Amino acid sequence: MKYILHFTWTQTRLIFFTVLFLVIFGNYSFFTNVLKVYPLDIHNIGFLISLVLFIIALNVFMFILFSSKYTTKFMLILVLLISSLTNYFMNTYHIVVDDDMIRNAIQTNLNESMDLFSIKQILYFTFLGVIPSYFIYKVDIEYGGKRKELLRKVIYIFISLVLIGLSLFIFSKHYASFFREHKPLRYTVNPTYWIYSIGNYVSKTLNSGPIIIEKIGTDAKIVEKDGDENDEHTELIILVVGEAARADHFSLNGYTKQTNPLLEKEDIINFSNMKSCGTSTALSVPCMFSIFNRADYDYKKGISTYNILDVLQTTKDVEILWRDNNSDSKGVALRVPYEDYKSSKLNTICEEDGECRDEGMLVGIDEYIKKNKGKDILIVLHQMGNHGPAYYKRYPKEFEKFMPVCKTNQLEECTKEEISNGYDNALLYTDYFLSKTINLLKKYNNSHETAMIYMSDHGESLGENGLYLHGLPYFMAPDSQTHIGSFVWFGDEMKKDISIKKLIDKKDNEYSQDYLFHTLLGLFEVQTKVYDKSKDIINGD
Ligand SMILES: [Zn+2]
Repeated sequence: MKYILHFTWTQTRLIFFTVLFLVIFGNYSFFTNVLKVYPLDIHNIGFLISLVLFIIALNVFMFILFSSKYTTKFMLILVLLISSLTNYFMNTYHIVVDDDMIRNAIQTNLNESMDLFSIKQILYFTFLGVIPSYFIYKVDIEYGGKRKELLRKVIYIFISLVLIGLSLFIFSKHYASFFREHKPLRYTVNPTYWIYSIGNYVSKTLNSGPIIIEKIGTDAKIVEKDGDENDEHTELIILVVGEAARADHFSLNGYTKQTNPLLEKEDIINFSNMKSCGTSTALSVPCMFSIFNRADYDYKKGISTYNILDVLQTTKDVEILWRDNNSDSKGVALRVPYEDYKSSKLNTICEEDGECRDEGMLVGIDEYIKKNKGKDILIVLHQMGNHGPAYYKRYPKEFEKFMPVCKTNQLEECTKEEISNGYDNALLYTDYFLSKTINLLKKYNNSHETAMIYMSDHGESLGENGLYLHGLPYFMAPDSQTHIGSFVWFGDEMKKDISIKKLIDKKDNEYSQDYLFHTLLGLFEVQTKVYDKSKDIINGD
């Protein structure tokens, strides 16, 4: 044993072979994608070989820059372990590990991560992560004197740079198209892209120093409408933020399976053409509550600017409550009352496996409304909804109407139909939850101006073109990830205040989450200079 595990290598050699291992075993996704664009033929063969050399040289260059007696082993082991996991997720779900995905992963709680856990993942981790790491851990690195070590590094760096330079020079046309026209290709190169993404994430998130929150809408106030003095009704609005509910799986939007049997009986106005701001919870949720448009929004701006909840709170006339059965509010409800419904501590409707149901968030709402009599109320319910890949866990047994169902989180082992069925059953449970919410509001038909707004955070891929889950960069994301379920429902008193006919005429227009901020201001009749009537779906023109 001692002999087998006793190696003496130079630092540079260890780096070179680790890179070789990573490039060969970690890039199945990358090479398959590359071969789709540049098929293996006489015109491309030279470029393809140079691309492999280019990637090896780039990684060797990078690792040698950061190598030292104290960092090399640690760095290589860390990269191997993380790469084995990114490799698994890229091969299995065809996701992209960009900075938004990293933010999403960091903000995901353990329960959700357990959903993604699988035997295949353990195999990837063991064979591509742990075993080579153990080898690196055991190897004795022979460090020459300072000069010798430096010389070795210089030689490797020199060869790397020459290879990179020659590749770019000889195949310049290929590389120009690779970098400019086929941008998405590089998203799956392992480990380079995830390392780049961490850097990107850190620079977008951390380097700003303390967050100073810009208060917008500080002039916000609710003004009684003229000639409306005897309107003693206060407003009661429930906003449901959905999870991963794609529009084309709603029978309200013409889906062939009846996924909205209860909502179809309600008097709702369905927005058939609603687009999300991002393709992940971490991006879409803060974006939809922010004043920024999709094009202007970024994480830093989002967390450092008042959102719609803050502006409504500024009026001092609206009581706000956020109940969360998803991971959390993604920074939206930091300054308003927040209740965690993911555990049986507050949620009274939980399964034995720990999964808590969305309808648990409705328990106790009556008491809350009673307690806040005479005040305007906004309640936000953040659903677990259709959180993947374990769709089959997202609904109680009696909602298993579409069968057979994919009962594993290894989606690629199931047929498309089985995946769809699990997903549609979860949607059926959401249909039940939303209609229950509407029926709760109906009790306040005479005492309040009531409304419910439903808006999913983003959509979901269910195996089309090998894509699963969500989180692709927006420009390359399929419609299924960005076209979301959304509708509104109004009680009788609220209907008197708005032009329902006009709204019905506009319901199929193209809308997006950018409209939510102003639509809520309009519904609560808030006057402020940040209100933009042209982005108010309900009360705008
Ligand atoms: Zn989400």
